[in-house]
Amino acid sequence: GNGAIELIAVSKYYGSTIAVKSIDLKIPAGAYCCLIGPSGCGKTTTLRMIAGHEAISEGDLLIGQRNVTELPPVKRGTSMMFQNYALFPHMSCAENVAFGLRMQGVSPVERAERATEMLARVHMDMFADRKPDQLSGGQQQRIALARALITQPEVLLLDEPLSALDPFLRARMRDELRRLQQDLGITFVHVTHAQDEALALSDMVVVMEDGVIRQKGTPEEIFNR
Ligand code: ADP
Ligand code: ADP
Repeated sequence: GNGAIELIAVSKYYGSTIAVKSIDLKIPAGAYCCLIGPSGCGKTTTLRMIAGHEAISEGDLLIGQRNVTELPPVKRGTSMMFQNYALFPHMSCAENVAFGLRMQGVSPVERAERATEMLARVHMDMFADRKPDQLSGGQQQRIALARALITQPEVLLLDEPLSALDPFLRARMRDELRRLQQDLGITFVHVTHAQDEALALSDMVVVMEDGVIRQKGTPEEIFNR
């Protein structure tokens, strides 16, 4: 599949800090993979290297069997949803969602159609004309999801997507994320420090510690031993 990810001896240095130490990792296409581990272990750096927002110091990254190590983010078939949602405050929800298509040169009519369709997918079609500051945290998060997915990526990268939500909303959004991933059939890579999240969501858990991978397996293998 096009959404398979392979990291081959990937390292990241920040000056003398080794954030990620020669990791090897294969994530199958269509998997829901959670990256877990304590703060500072290299989760976000790994995610950002897959996205192309952070250069790889050493090693190779394949996405869908293509070596994308040197490619910019927009050429990788990936999309990233950020922790703080990062919506444009002056744009309506529909405009926020359609933004990525504007960058791709898609016509205004098609942009509007696809934005409407994507808003419905995340149950936000009623809020198309609102500005982000007129929405709750959970609603803003749905808009951010729709915005990340509208370019039809093979891989969605999520950095602590649920951490800003209250416990009730977290549980609900967790279920929605899982359903969305199964519906779309694309690869999700989700960074979290919450074990319950990884257990509920993933097909595959990768445990990092000190810049290396300590364990990988199904949630059952990782948490029930
Ligand atoms: P996590 O996401 O698991 O909390 P990070 O990937 O953010 O961990 O960080 C891994 C290590 O790399 C930490 O020691 C962190 O301080 C360091 N680091 C991350 N980003 C930078 C940066 N831009 N400059 C210098 N050091 C960084
Ligand atoms: P998270 O908790 O999600 O891993 P952080 O709060 O650690 O995020 O980091 C937020 C931003 O600061 C990131 O862009 C990261 O690369 C950068 N950063 C993290 N640690 C350092 C550091 N030691 N020096 C410089 N920048 C850092």
